[in-house]
Amino acid sequence: MTARNNSTFELTIIGGGIVGLATCLQAIRKQPRVRIAIVEKEPAIARHQSGHNSGVIHSGIYYKPGSLKATNCVTGAQRMVEFCREHSIPFEICGKVVVATDDSERAGLGELMRRGTANGVPGLKMISVEQLREMEPHCTGIAAMHVPGTGITDYTRVAQKYAELIQAAGGEILTGYQVRGIVRNSSEIVLETNRGTIKASRIINCAGLHSDRIMRLSGEDSALRIVPFRGEYYEIVPARRHLVRNLIYPVADPRFPFLGVHFTRRITGGIEAGPNAVLALKREGYRKTDFNVRDAVETAVFPGFWRMAVKYWRSGVGEYYRSLSKQGFTHALQKLLPEIQAADLEPAGAGVRAQALDRTGRLLDDFVIVRSKQIIHVCNVPSPAATASLVIGEQIVEMLS
Ligand SMILES: Cc1cc2nc3c(=O)[nH]c(=O)nc-3n(C[C@H](O)[C@H](O)[C@H](O)COP(=O)(O)OP(=O)(O)OC[C@H]3O[C@@H](n4cnc5c(N)ncnc54)[C@H](O)[C@@H]3O)c2cc1C
Repeated sequence: MTARNNSTFELTIIGGGIVGLATCLQAIRKQPRVRIAIVEKEPAIARHQSGHNSGVIHSGIYYKPGSLKATNCVTGAQRMVEFCREHSIPFEICGKVVVATDDSERAGLGELMRRGTANGVPGLKMISVEQLREMEPHCTGIAAMHVPGTGITDYTRVAQKYAELIQAAGGEILTGYQVRGIVRNSSEIVLETNRGTIKASRIINCAGLHSDRIMRLSGEDSALRIVPFRGEYYEIVPARRHLVRNLIYPVADPRFPFLGVHFTRRITGGIEAGPNAVLALKREGYRKTDFNVRDAVETAVFPGFWRMAVKYWRSGVGEYYRSLSKQGFTHALQKLLPEIQAADLEPAGAGVRAQALDRTGRLLDDFVIVRSKQIIHVCNVPSPAATASLVIGEQIVEMLS
């Protein structure tokens, strides 16, 4: 869509993913008369992380109590369910199990229970091996936790509904506009795009995998780099779907901000296995062979990258092995579901996570949103940001005032 008449807005949001759209929606709800636009480089919204994810409405068991992820996820999940209900978007609260498969994982499972309880996640329960078998008859483990409030939905549908509501309220969604330069004057900001300039009094940077670049274009550097981690999925062939009823997760490695390969029932049908977490050599690289010189060099020259590589090289090698070897991927899944075989799995696409890394080599765990004079930069909003999008949007809008 092109700009209607003149290209001057009070507020412009860069990025038409679920976070940019939710923020725009909340801004319009708060100030219905504000002249507002979203600028999105792709021909349609939700083409990147927001359209390539697991579709889980997370409950909030993983996050450190008091963190933005914890508070936003618990409230955000309730708000997401209400939103889906109100707008007839398919969703289901199917619950999930988190399963320890050996003694070394018992402490981690206990920690998830502690965090979930501290975060106010309702209905959490440690369950016996027999109860696990009743819920997921083909799953094996030595201890498990049931999270009854976890759900599934389709975040592309959610994003489309946000967009519809924005347009119905007079907001503009300018697709096919790539921001290439940012000039700041005392009274306004000029966005230089491939289709001319757009002026705005204030900007919100929700550019996901490119948010650090947008920040640098605006003349600021947060000392963070977005490092892309591809998450690859397999789908269980129809004849073997009965092996999984709902969602089955391992106990995640607490040192790593990813959840480990798991099984997810999709609201659109079918069961997915994955995603893994492989360092990608292209920010929007969905295939194993995708490579972009600028993306790869920017990652490699960032000092934090080598510090991260030293810290996590063992996990990284394991992830590459499971990416290149279907047998290796299957082997990881068999810890949870011994009956699953490589022949039961078909490749099912990938998503790429925008994960912020700092100079010390730390993968930032929490959401990071930074406010400067006329611009708010959404620097790190990985999972569960789709779940929490409405609440994140509300918080960003509050930061404007
Ligand atoms: C594999 C995977 C599984 C996940 N599973 C879940 C899950 O089950 N539940 C959950 O809650 N979360 C999940 N997430 C996380 C969730 O999808 C993301 O946190 C969320 O989609 C982030 O939204 P966003 O709007 O910030 O980013 P994006 O959706 O990536 O949107 C950013 C947008 O900015 C645009 N853009 C970038 N640069 C420019 C520019 N220069 N000019 C104009 N536009 C630009 C891009 O084209 C893009 O559309 C998952 C993520 C991945 C990758």
